[in-house]
Amino acid sequence: MKLALIAHDKKKNDMIQFARAYQHILGKHELYATGTTGIKIMEATGLEVYRFQSGPLGGDQEIGALIAQNKMDMVIFFRDPLTAQPHEPDISALIRLCDVYAIPLATNMGTAEVLIHGLDRGALQWRSIIHEKQGE
Ligand code: PGA
Repeated sequence: MKLALIAHDKKKNDMIQFARAYQHILGKHELYATGTTGIKIMEATGLEVYRFQSGPLGGDQEIGALIAQNKMDMVIFFRDPLTAQPHEPDISALIRLCDVYAIPLATNMGTAEVLIHGLDRGALQWRSIIHEKQGE
């Protein structure tokens, strides 16, 4: 499965802890991230992560583009609800596209825990059916 990982600055430590705790699960999947989040995950875990632009420079939109092609299977997005972000429209657009394409999306640690366990138990196998129909 293709997983996107994004964390706003004040949530990057949460993302590092999450990635370390679930490295054994994340390592079985293709990982994508916005620029700085990706570096931090790679440094903390040694996992291979494909990095897009930093979020404020278009990274959220790049991930959104993959969602619009139905090529992203899950998004873990630790957003900071207490700080204004310069790229708020991009964030809203990404969340909206997850809803358009029914992509599992966690915007906080509580939901991310549920999703990652679900992923490991095969709860996202229905995504494989979509990929087969797309001929991937
Ligand atoms: P970053 O982008 O991983 O490059 O910091 C995330 C964001 O702030 O949207």
